This record gives sequence, C-alpha cells and structure tokens, in this order.
Amino acid sequence: MITVLRLGHRKDRDKRASMHVALVARALGADGIVFCGEKDDALLERVNAVSKKWGGKFRATFSASYRTTIKKFPGTKVHLTMYGKPVQGAAPALAGKKLLVVVGSEKVPRDVYALCDCNVAVTNQPHSEIAALALFLREVLGKKAFEKKFPGAQVTILPSEKGKNVKKYK
Ligand code: SAM
Repeated sequence: MITVLRLGHRKDRDKRASMHVALVARALGADGIVFCGEKDDALLERVNAVSKKWGGKFRATFSASYRTTIKKFPGTKVHLTMYGKPVQGAAPALAGKKLLVVVGSEKVPRDVYALCDCNVAVTNQPHSEIAALALFLREVLGKKAFEKKFPGAQVTILPSEKGKNVKKYK
C-alpha cells in the first residue's frame, strides 16, 4: 500500500503540478494522496472526480500538519529529494512495504529529512516532483506500476493502435 504526501501545496501556483502529482500517483499504483499546505477543496474534488470516472479506490485528502501525517504513518516514510540516496539502490528494500512517499513543492522544511526513514534521489540532479514520483513508483513496483486495476470505472479505454476506443458502463 502506497500513499503519497504532497508538501506545501499553493492554491494558485501549484494548481496544475499538484493535480499531476495526484494523477501520476493514481495511474502508477499508489492508493491515495494527502495534500498539505493551503487547503484546496477544488483540487480534492478534481482528483476524486477522476477516480469516480476512471475507477479504483484512490482518494485525495487534506492534512493541516505534514509533521503529524509523517509521524503517525504506520509504515516506511520515504522522502524524494535530489539530496538522497540513489533510487536504484534504495528501491529493492522498499518493495512490498507500506510506504508514505513525500514530495515537495516549494522549499522543503528541514525536519522532513529527519522525520522520514530515508531520503531517496531520482538522480542527484534537480528536476520535478512529478517525474521523480513516476520513476520512483516504477522502480519500487516494477512492471506492476503499469498493471494497476481500477474496478468500478464509469469508462475504460480499450487500447488500440489507432484512434480512440472507449467503453462506457454507466
Ligand atoms: N526548491 C525546492 C527545495 O529547495 O527543496 C525543491 C523544488 S523541486 C521542483 C520539488 C520537489 O521535486 C522536491 O521537493 C522533491 O520532492 C522533488 N525532486 C526534485 N528533484 C528530485 C530528484 N532529483 N530526486 C528526487 N526528488 C526530486
């Protein structure tokens, strides 16, 4: 079971990036996302509307305290940061564990580095929380990251080489 924690969401500035963090988390096998920072009900609704239409149990929630969320999480807490240990070495020990995967937006508070069990880097170069999360999930879940099932969908895509083939259930 994998939960993503998105730190420091800013309603205006991070509107799209936070949505994309959630979409990537859901599509590549996480079970839910917790947003910290500015409370943004519209964002939670958009994410949960995607789950309603496209299926699965992925849910977005808000937490007023990243500290409490990290401290109380009953599993392994992983902070994605360019300062961490390379993901290719860290991932095997994390496979199959209950994970909280923490990603930042603006400057990440210093205590996050110590609150988490490990700091993991997807290369030691600066880039994006969206890309870092996608690649982390792929490393930890392997091909399962591409094979998540989404029961209860209102629509599903029937993969086709050409064109769009969509099945509607309701
Ligand atoms: N400027 C911010 C700071 O001082 O921490 C980081 C901004 S960065 C765009 C936002 C987030 O992307 C980071 O908090 C981290 O979670 C993720 N990220 C960026 N580069 C990364 C890397 N090489 N490995 C893992 N995560 C990374």
